This record gives sequence, structure tokens and C-alpha cells, in this order.
Amino acid sequence: MIRDIIIAIDGHSGCGKSTTSRLLAKNLNFKYLDSGAMYRAVTLYFVNKGVSQNDTKKIKDELNNIIIDFKYVEDNQHIFLNDQDVENEIRSDEISNQVSLFSSNSSIRKFLVNKQKTFGINKNIVVEGRDITTVVFPDAEIKVFMTADIQVRAKRRFNEMKSKNPDITYSDVIKNLEDRDIQDSTRKDSPLMVADDAFILNTSDLEINDQVDKIINFISNKFS
Ligand code: C5P
Repeated sequence: MIRDIIIAIDGHSGCGKSTTSRLLAKNLNFKYLDSGAMYRAVTLYFVNKGVSQNDTKKIKDELNNIIIDFKYVEDNQHIFLNDQDVENEIRSDEISNQVSLFSSNSSIRKFLVNKQKTFGINKNIVVEGRDITTVVFPDAEIKVFMTADIQVRAKRRFNEMKSKNPDITYSDVIKNLEDRDIQDSTRKDSPLMVADDAFILNTSDLEINDQVDKIINFISNKFS
């Protein structure tokens, strides 16, 4: 049985990290942490307050007023910002277009990384994001880097989003993914990169179940 480990998963936007991580955690009976949801919730807070991403002083001062929690709502994990369920709101186009700008702010990163570390104290958790294998849990027993062709990622994301937002176009989606890839990989503080000992999983030709199986095989081989 796979126990007492942290599984850290990083990768590009829209390559199936969240769905894979959630299913992996369910199969292993592990907890699951979506660190991207935390950056989205903080972004929502500042957008609602009308604070610009350039106003670093205001951002630093306001962080003390932000409480982020995860709670189960009808069997699904939702994120709460100051006691309000914001699970849907954080996925809007407006937040998707601004999140990488706010997540390059070092005060926000420090605030969230400290919180993320506390989730790993008892291990048995799958954590996914952009700096989990390199900064949040550099000693994680299992590290995975997920990627996929941009066209495949955009098509999947477009299909997922068009029922919620009928106005969205394929070119909007591809632009958002490309912009976030560039911003996340080139920022100064903890950019997205492949950890030396990460298992690289390209999901371009894979279904979700295959992605989960490949990670479980990698873990089983590592500990056999
Ligand atoms: O995973 P998701 O696409 O929801 O993440 C949204 C954004 O949050 C990313 O594009 C990135 O800018 C930021 N993020 C980050 N570090 C993480 C997780 C997410 O900077 N660990």
C-alpha cells in the first residue's frame, strides 16, 4: 500500500493536472490540495477590492485580512475566501486572465507557500501547482511534471469552458494558456520548471485514467 508520502505535481496550464491529481488522491485515499485555487482566490480578493497588481505595498498590508479554507460541499472540495464559497467565481475569465500577474508577487507567494506547507505535515497528500516540486515540497517523495501540446490543452479547456461561458472562443482560450505559460515560467520568484528528479508525463495522447495509472506505476516502481 502506498502511504506516508507527499506526491507533488507541477506542470503547464490546462494539461489535466487538477483532474488527474484529484482522481489520484481519491484512488490512494490521500488528501488533495489545489494550490492554483489559492492563487485564484487571492487574485479574486484583490480584483474585488480594485487593488492593482502593481500596488505591492497595499497587497502586502491586505494579506492579513485574507483567510483561505477548503471545505466539502456535496462531496466536492470547494475553496472559501473569508468564509464565502468562491469555487466557481475563481474560474471566471477575468480571474484566469489576471491570476498569473498577481501570482508573480513575492508577498502573495510567501503567504500561500507557508499555508501550503502546513497541509503536508501529515503526508498522504497530492499537491498540484507550479512550484510544488521545487519550492513548496522540494523533498517530496514523488515529483511529477505534467505537460501536453498547446493545441490539445486548448481544445480540452475550450470544451470544458464553453458550457459555462458560451461567449468564449478557442482563440481566447489558447491566448490565456500561452500567456500564463510564459508568465509562470519567466517570473523571478519560483518560476515553473522541471525538478531534476521529476517524472515527466506528457498527456497529449492520454485519457485521464491512463494518466493516473502512469503515476501509480511510477510510484510502485520507485518503491519496489
Ligand atoms: O492551476 P491553475 O491553472 O488554477 O493556476 C492558476 C495560476 O496560479 C497559474 O497560472 C499560476 O500563475 C498560479 N500558480 C502559481 N503557483 C502554484 C499554483 C498556481 O503561481 N503553485
